[in-house]
Amino acid sequence: MLRKIYRKANSGVIFALAAGLLTTPIAQAQSPYEDEWSRGFKHYASQLGDSALAQSILNYASQHERLLQQHGYIGRVLPIPAIEQVAPGVFFVKGALMWGTLENFGLNNNITAVELESGIFVYNTGSNPAVAYSFHQKLQRHTSMPIKWLAIENYQSHANLGASYWMDVGVRNLYSEQAAADFWQTRGFDRAVQRVSEYGPLLIQPVRNVADRYTRFEDRLIINEGSGDEVHLVNFGGGHTPTMTGAFIPSKNILFTGDLGFVERLPGLLHGSSYSEWLASFERMVDYVTTHSSDLDNLLVIPGHGGATNLTELTRQTYDYFKDLEAVVKQAIANGVARQDLAQHVAMPDYQDRPMYSQLFLRNALSVFDEITTGQVSDPTLADE
Ligand SMILES: [Zn+2]
Repeated sequence: MLRKIYRKANSGVIFALAAGLLTTPIAQAQSPYEDEWSRGFKHYASQLGDSALAQSILNYASQHERLLQQHGYIGRVLPIPAIEQVAPGVFFVKGALMWGTLENFGLNNNITAVELESGIFVYNTGSNPAVAYSFHQKLQRHTSMPIKWLAIENYQSHANLGASYWMDVGVRNLYSEQAAADFWQTRGFDRAVQRVSEYGPLLIQPVRNVADRYTRFEDRLIINEGSGDEVHLVNFGGGHTPTMTGAFIPSKNILFTGDLGFVERLPGLLHGSSYSEWLASFERMVDYVTTHSSDLDNLLVIPGHGGATNLTELTRQTYDYFKDLEAVVKQAIANGVARQDLAQHVAMPDYQDRPMYSQLFLRNALSVFDEITTGQVSDPTLADE
């Protein structure tokens, strides 16, 4: 497939050349592997009046693009964290417990692959094509099953930005909730590319917006119902982002919480997050698995951030945190504490050893304060985390 796209792109270049269209920008023919280097050569070729020389320069550019392709995105497997097999046939890479940086290759959330009866289900695309490629390379040392289905948890880049890699390697079933997919297609992608370009342009060099290829749903979609490949994709509702796609796999008794579930690091209320919606969505998620899991005590829970866990621990670290935060902020409001003085009144010592506490404790408290006092959440322009 890759090769086909690549050939098509280059035959476009050659056709343009043969048709004597050298005065128009030849580089319009897009290869997913075009970079500044080959764009420069194509532009140079387009300025030349000498078609033989132009052709040799274009050959050089196309060889360069072929090499980029053969070397697999950025050329070698990134030293992302090792794959942990957290249950039989469940391959998990844990993202950094902070925001995306060059040092963690933007990988700050989890990617998981699950062997089902006839293929592999992957939850989250990876935070960029280079991370997706690296995860795939590592995964192939553990399993030879084909990857057939891929679910995208929400609006964020760490859920979406690896999608074009999976399309390139032939995965066609990428699922996302409707509003999240619309957001990503029209605004999220461009914004994410801009942000990652600032710290790691190589990580996204081959990236494309493929959201028009996502299979969309609103409330729930069951993949291959009644088979050993059954996966329930459920929009449990907003909280962290305005909607959130969780996944429940009956045959494996696994719940993917997406960003309704954080363990280890502190959860974050971003622009547009709502703690009260988060609590309600979390309750819907617990209701869902309580109804659908045949063995709730042994349910394996893969949170959006932090290591694999169980429902009790997840509830303690996410749901109970927001309940405690709500109580602390409500007490401060009852005591007449002003918004600008909140920092002195909302310390939560039980939580301060958790990663991201110092970055988020006040921001979260302010978000809860605003939601309680005004009923509003802040500008829904999404920040990424
Ligand atoms: Zn996240």
